Order: sequence, then C-alpha cells, then structure tokens
Amino acid sequence: MTFQDLNIIEPILKALYEKGYENPTPIQEQAIPPAMNKRDLLGLAQTGTGKTAAFAIPIIQHLQQEKNFVNQKEIKALIITPTRELAIQICDCFSEYTKYTTIKHTVIFGGVNQLPQINVLKKRIDILIATPGRLLDLMTQGFIKLDKIQYFVLDEADRMLDMGFIHDIRKILPKLPKQKQTLFFSATMPTSIAALSRSILNNPVRVEVSPTSSVVDTIQQTVYFVEKQEKKDLLINLLKKQRPSSTLVFSRTKHGADKIAKILCKAGINSKAIHGNKSQNARQSALEDFKSLKIRVLIATDIAARGIDINQLELVINYDLPEVAETYVHRIGRTGRAGNLGMAFSFCSQEEQPYLKDIQKLTGKKLTVTY
Ligand code: AMP
Repeated sequence: MTFQDLNIIEPILKALYEKGYENPTPIQEQAIPPAMNKRDLLGLAQTGTGKTAAFAIPIIQHLQQEKNFVNQKEIKALIITPTRELAIQICDCFSEYTKYTTIKHTVIFGGVNQLPQINVLKKRIDILIATPGRLLDLMTQGFIKLDKIQYFVLDEADRMLDMGFIHDIRKILPKLPKQKQTLFFSATMPTSIAALSRSILNNPVRVEVSPTSSVVDTIQQTVYFVEKQEKKDLLINLLKKQRPSSTLVFSRTKHGADKIAKILCKAGINSKAIHGNKSQNARQSALEDFKSLKIRVLIATDIAARGIDINQLELVINYDLPEVAETYVHRIGRTGRAGNLGMAFSFCSQEEQPYLKDIQKLTGKKLTVTY
C-alpha cells in the first residue's frame, strides 16, 4: 500500500516524501482510512510504530479541507500526551507534516515559564499539543477554551495512568464538546484503560500492531556473559572497537547512569546521562547533542528514555538487563527501525541470568552468547 492509496492530499504527501517516508507503516495503513472517515479509533500501538503520523495526518487533512476555518481563532484539535519529551516530539512531527499547509499548532507542557506559552495561545492556534497538568492549569486560568474541539487524541493512555494523570484527564474531558472525533492510543490495555476507552469512545474501530513480544529481524542481538565489575571495561572496548555512530546505553539506576557517563568520559568517549534527577533543560540539551551527533553515546534509565525518538540509532546496549522482559523489547526496538539494520548488546552477569531466560521466552528467540 502507498500513501496515495490512502487518499492523502498533496501538501501532506509532499512533506512525507521529503521526510523520506516511502510507504505507510502498518498502524498508518490500518488507522488512517477509518480516521479519515471520522470514526473514533482505539489504537493499540507503542512508540516507534509510526502512530503519531497515523493520527496527525487525518487531523491535518480534515482541517486543511474545512472551509473558513482559517478565520476562526478557536483551538480545533487537541492532543494530550503524558510527558514533555513526547509532547515536543509530537509537535516536531506536526511541524513537518503541516509544512505545506496553512495550519497552525503549538505545544504546552509544565516545568517551564507559562508566559511564552500564553502569548502564543493568544494568536490563532488550530492544533494544541499538551501535557495534562499544564493544560488544566491554563484552562483554569482562562487562557484555553476547548469548547470548539472537533478532534481529540489521547496518546499513551496507559502511561498516563502510570504517571497519575488520570484525575487530570477526567477533569479535562467534560470541557470538550460531545460531538467530536476521538482517537485513543495505548500500548497496553489493562482493565482500567479499557474502561476509560469505553467511556469516551463512540463505536470505535480497533486497530492493533506488533505486540510487545516481537523483535524485528533487522536487529542483530548479542549477549555477553560478563561479571558485574568487568562490565565497564567491556563497554569501553566495544565502543572503541565498533565505533558506532550513535549508541544508547541503558542503566537500571540513575546513579549507575551517572557512573557510566563518568567512566566513559575518563576513557575519552564523549557521553552524557539522562535520568529523572536531571533538570528538564539538562535532559533536553543532552538529547539534542545526541541527535546532532555531538555526543555519540547517551546513557539513560528506562523512564528517562521513554518516548525518545532518534532515527538511525545504530546500537543499543543493555548495561544492566531489565527485570521485566517486555522492557528489553522496548529498549532494543529503538534500533533497526524503518528497515535500517541495528545492533543490540546485552551484558548479563551471573545473577541476571534468570532475566535472560524470561527475555528468550518472551521473544521466542535464543540469543547468541559471547563470552
Ligand atoms: P512514532 O511511533 O510516531 O513515534 O514514530 C516512530 C518513528 O517512525 C519516527 O521516527 C517517525 O519519523 C518514523 N516514521 C513514521 N512513519 C513513517 C513511515 N511511513 N516511514 C518511515 N518512517 C516513519
């Protein structure tokens, strides 16, 4: 299937081709046609599947085709997502896809001064991307009205629940008009999320892609059996030998992430760590340095790495094996994307071997072990 088969209009097609997308991903193939028909959507998909474009394209297309909307100052589409990183990432996607349209969008999130955000909101904004807390804050202060919303996206609903945002969501929902299209995305579907989806979706079309147990064949996975105290030397040796253009190293703890960054810097390998104890600015600048290849190694904890979207990541290293097997699939899924080849190295100490068993069971693959 091609993007033309999905009846996408020229200005959006042009932007997609410019980004180098050749064909739609499976979630886009499944989600775009019903969303174009204004159906509600229940999407089971995680980051990395191309879900942002799956909801962004139909919204942009509808708004672009609606007459007279240009003169209306109200916000017409709302996307709520749990973290600042995701919000910024979604905003970047909208910037790309709306490049050849007349649609305006902006992003708001907490942890930064609200004034610049309020100033942007005074102008015409068609699409608003927001994290729940700041959205509620600015709504309460009277800077945002949602009574003209026609398109509503709830992104990463399960994570929203994990992070305690469900109360905020429940306060926001009644402020939206009854008549609207809702696109609901979640990587998993625990009962509380299923209940939430039932309460806000109207006869939805369900779309689902790649369950978390699947690892794409474009990722070459290797396990190193290594004792804990030898992990740092192995890491330095591998990075020096392989010289990958970009490497994401996962550490179980924040303290561990800092320690790895220090060790690498001492060994002459430029790297930075991101985790929850770092300020938003420090995390953002580390991420930007990594994306622009100023630093080639980024060390992250699972929480800090959530939603990091880096194209062409060459290597993922599990310095510590994750305790939950699904986390392994999420971690290494950041490489080998969109048909590119990727590598994943995992360091497994004696006491981590039970985790390795769980991973092999989940993925149904025996991993190559190197001593
Ligand atoms: P997402 O799941 O929305 O976070 O997207 C994951 C990654 O896939 C992002 O880096 C997108 O830029 C990329 N992507 C989305 N759609 C396509 C496509 N049709 N072809 C190639 N890459 C894509």
